[in-house]
Amino acid sequence: MARGCRAFVTGVGGQDGGYLAERLVADGVEVHALAHEAEPLPDVPGVELHVGDLTRTDDVRRLVLDLAPDEIYNLAALSSVARSWEEPDLTAAVNGGAAVALLDTAYRLQERSGRQVRVLQASSAEIFGQPDRSPQDESTPVRPVNPYGAAKAFAHLMCRVYRHRGLHAAAVILYNHESPRRPPQFVTRKITSTAAAIARGEADRLVLGNLDARRDWGWAPDYVDAMVRAARAEQPDDYVVATGDGHSVRDFVVAAFARAGIDDWERRVEVDPALVRPADATELVGDATKARRDLGWAPTVGFDELVARLVDAELSR
Ligand code: GDP
Repeated sequence: MARGCRAFVTGVGGQDGGYLAERLVADGVEVHALAHEAEPLPDVPGVELHVGDLTRTDDVRRLVLDLAPDEIYNLAALSSVARSWEEPDLTAAVNGGAAVALLDTAYRLQERSGRQVRVLQASSAEIFGQPDRSPQDESTPVRPVNPYGAAKAFAHLMCRVYRHRGLHAAAVILYNHESPRRPPQFVTRKITSTAAAIARGEADRLVLGNLDARRDWGWAPDYVDAMVRAARAEQPDDYVVATGDGHSVRDFVVAAFARAGIDDWERRVEVDPALVRPADATELVGDATKARRDLGWAPTVGFDELVARLVDAELSR
């Protein structure tokens, strides 16, 4: 399904929402997107924007029933683990409750129209919390340790509930995925933008939190491709989407500074204990065997290439 299909995308103002909307438009899909009223309108050619707020569930329900999309991609979320500690209730409402309202609306739309409605939920590795095994896969216990992960876990489990009820509700368990469009508060953007500023002589140090945290960083457009594949698979299911390659924040710093041509990274980097998170997973690395096997998905960008792309984008900004 692509040409002739209508999709509804939430979170179009974010990194993934933008890439996804562009991808769907290129596929010939009629794309409608919910743009958050509190943010500047995103510029995504070919997309019909509907301004609103996902937590006003009655408005969103009316809009979705009216548009009657074939595919719904739920990417709207408070995306920062750090911020979820500052606003746990809002995180629960957006990342949890609003996602459930959307699943329920999709189910009602399907019942009413007699046509299949497919839902893709952007789930997260944070649902695993501090897993005792690495890499994680779809059978890893869901045991979140922060408000972001708990809200995403609720939406993830409700996706399974509606799947059981007869909705084509797929969930992609996304590991960290980056691009030059990542907001600056994420560690990859923070490291690469500061490395570029140091290279230009505009800054002299980089202040970070936990350098030992290990993450599995991939290229955001690859992860958007997995979303489309999961939404269009014959059977709805859960899929880990990850590269399988783990690196520490320190590894990222070393690679980024080298790419920016700075050889004394140790003199430039400081650790501020205030930036170390209360319950930071030691290692989130995913095993995407199932996505490879069932969806034919594979990441196209490895760690060194990812760092190079992000640093080069900062250097030419
Ligand atoms: P997240 O995994 O979705 O929260 O993505 P982030 O890019 O914000 O964080 C990735 C990892 O980098 C986490 O383990 C953070 O604790 C770690 N980290 C270390 N220093 C920093 C920092 O200064 N800012 C951020 N955002 N993360 C940091």
